[in-house]
Amino acid sequence: MNEFSLIKQYFTQCGESRDDVLLGIGDDAALLQTQPNSSLVMTMDTLIEEVHFPSSTSAADIAHKALAVNLSDLAAMGATPAWFLLSLSLPHSNEDWLSSFSQSLARQATQYGIKLIGGDTCKGPLSITIQATGMLENKAVLRSGAQLGDHIFVSGTLGAAALALAMLQNKLDKNDDFESFQQALNLPQPRLDVSQIVKHYATAMIDLSDGLLGDLEHILKASDCGAELFLDRIPMPNLIHQIKDYHYVLSGGDDYELCFTVPERYIKEVKQSLLAQKIAVFDIGNITQSGLTLYKGNDKQTMDISTHQGFQHFG
Ligand code: ADP
Ligand code: MG
Repeated sequence: MNEFSLIKQYFTQCGESRDDVLLGIGDDAALLQTQPNSSLVMTMDTLIEEVHFPSSTSAADIAHKALAVNLSDLAAMGATPAWFLLSLSLPHSNEDWLSSFSQSLARQATQYGIKLIGGDTCKGPLSITIQATGMLENKAVLRSGAQLGDHIFVSGTLGAAALALAMLQNKLDKNDDFESFQQALNLPQPRLDVSQIVKHYATAMIDLSDGLLGDLEHILKASDCGAELFLDRIPMPNLIHQIKDYHYVLSGGDDYELCFTVPERYIKEVKQSLLAQKIAVFDIGNITQSGLTLYKGNDKQTMDISTHQGFQHFG
């Protein structure tokens, strides 16, 4: 049983149904109607040592990533960050570690205007859980709104974090770009800049945490449609072309870029709005009726993607 069927079977029906739950389990975050014209957006993510980050990761980088992955889920809904809770399980209370961790956490929290309002602390294996809440005045951008003919965009380079992880695990030789790949792995930048513009145009959106194909599949399932993608349009580090191992970009994970769909009629406008903020996005394909096809280049030669599953716990 994988992560998603486990959640579906055991948790989707839990509790009394309530009119104020606009959207529960199944998207990047839950949506709660608290006032007539605004809703709360709630998400939660855990980082566990050796599962989500190597033991060698610094306290500052762990704090950064723990908050960034939550902010990324808020971005994927089109929400504005507001509050977060922090649950810490620590093997010991090392003051140097805590000082670096808390300073890094505070730096990013201030940058994105989100406030720590509570949490929990206990002794145990190193694990960090953050529950973040955002606000939304307009409609949320769900996974379920993609329409036939929409263009599929990603907000930045994919695969760098997965390359760094492979290098740290000695599965790949380190090259001159290792430092920058490691930065992508440890210091992902939640794309609220992209989200705040794109939310006015996108029909569907998700953040890329588990790999492009697996996460896009969530949009396709929720929207009951298919997609065609063009490998040569997906931005990726040169090294991936050199080693011709595309799983880093297709299913590597930890990218924390946004993937979103935009109807043809809005494309010019959305690109102009992004460009005005000096933000580049990449048109990597289109929504189709069904299936998922990956073309190698414009000659329409297809690539077998059956081996490129997204990351799944218990997968
Ligand atoms: P993401 O990758 O965007 O963080 P996940 O894949 O972790 O999302 O989760 C998918 C959906 O399942 C989300 O709506 C999440 O809130 C929900 N979910 C995950 N684990 C649980 C759980 N133990 N109980 C209830 N809902 C869960
Ligand atoms: Mg997500």
